[in-house]
Amino acid sequence: MDTNLSEANESSKKRKIISPTNSQTDSEEQDKWLSNVPVNNPYSILQNLSGDTTEDNITTSINLPPKPPPIYIEARVIEPLMELLKDIANNNFTIKQLKNSEVKIQVNTSDDYRKLTSALKEKNANFYTYQLKKDRSYKVVLRGMHPSMATGIIIDELKKLNHQVRQINNITKSVTKEPLPLFFIELEPNVNNKEIYKINRLYNMIVSFEPPKAKRDIPQCLRCQSYGHTKNYCNRTPACVKCAGKHWTSSCPYIGKINNVKCSNCQGNHPASYKGCLVRKQLQQKLFPKLRHKPGTPNSNLNPLNVTYTNHNNNTSEGIHSNIGTRNKTFAEIVRNQVRKDPAALPEDTNFAPTLIELKNLLITSTKNSEVITSMLLQQTQLLTQQSQQINKMLELLSLMLINNNK
Ligand SMILES: [Zn+2]
Ligand SMILES: [Zn+2]
Ligand SMILES: [Zn+2]
Repeated sequence: MDTNLSEANESSKKRKIISPTNSQTDSEEQDKWLSNVPVNNPYSILQNLSGDTTEDNITTSINLPPKPPPIYIEARVIEPLMELLKDIANNNFTIKQLKNSEVKIQVNTSDDYRKLTSALKEKNANFYTYQLKKDRSYKVVLRGMHPSMATGIIIDELKKLNHQVRQINNITKSVTKEPLPLFFIELEPNVNNKEIYKINRLYNMIVSFEPPKAKRDIPQCLRCQSYGHTKNYCNRTPACVKCAGKHWTSSCPYIGKINNVKCSNCQGNHPASYKGCLVRKQLQQKLFPKLRHKPGTPNSNLNPLNVTYTNHNNNTSEGIHSNIGTRNKTFAEIVRNQVRKDPAALPEDTNFAPTLIELKNLLITSTKNSEVITSMLLQQTQLLTQQSQQINKMLELLSLMLINNNK
């Protein structure tokens, strides 16, 4: 799907303004639907906006089953999008203008949503969205099951009780990887999902089911590296985790360790997956203010960066839950419910770059400290030498006095 990985222009796509006269923009931008403003009739856009689209669109959904998730799309021109939307959803949609030529689209039925997302994919539009609520798995933790129990048996036993398992992982201790009598289970969504909490025997073992702890980690898209959504629901221009280029990390031209590591979110000298990235920290403070650092700690006075986040609302949880790996989860991950970052997202060799920088800084400070200590020691030595000289003089004087007295 990503045939257009031409690399050369690494400037942020958010900032770049493509004018019709600028024909030398890279192919990635050219290929994205709605990314080019037509030359012919610049007023047609305005005409359409001022026309028949405003009032009718606000046909408020009279809360029917859960609304499909919103779609965020970069649109430098609105008319073709309007036409597509009218085509698919009649007038049952709303568009909200966001910053940086991004618009938020809300359709009312999951049918319209599916049609729209597939049409947008076909047109190669620059958009992302979230998983449909009704497609989302139901997550529980099974406690008390022997860690060596084959997951196939657990799946079969749950099936007998009308629970369809989508995914099951044994939970291990975070450091020792020792298996625990805990399993993280995702069930296919069903009306009987909550019934699972009533189960207290499984395969003759005394067990219990618990809801997983609320997650505080921010999902990061492995495709565009933005926060708040995941790659399965993203059709934006890819960004490399390593060099911030407009390609998938797997097709990065830089192989192995590189010096020009660049974060596509803050342009800093670290991989985009670095947990200490300022953009990530700011977002975390915004989303989880309870975790805010106490005044005085380095994180409390972050200056707002001139960077756009992709989190526009509280829909992040939808993105969070869609990030499912097949490997075992550690106990700490489940308890804190943090999904470990995909190892593929971060080439091993770049993994240590931020740590190395921190280490270097630490070394520099400790060197400075030892220099201070050395100079203090020197001063003390000098003082001591002076003192001992004085004592010597005093002793000399005393001995002279004694000799004089004896005479
Ligand atoms: Zn993305
Ligand atoms: Zn790259
Ligand atoms: Zn960063």
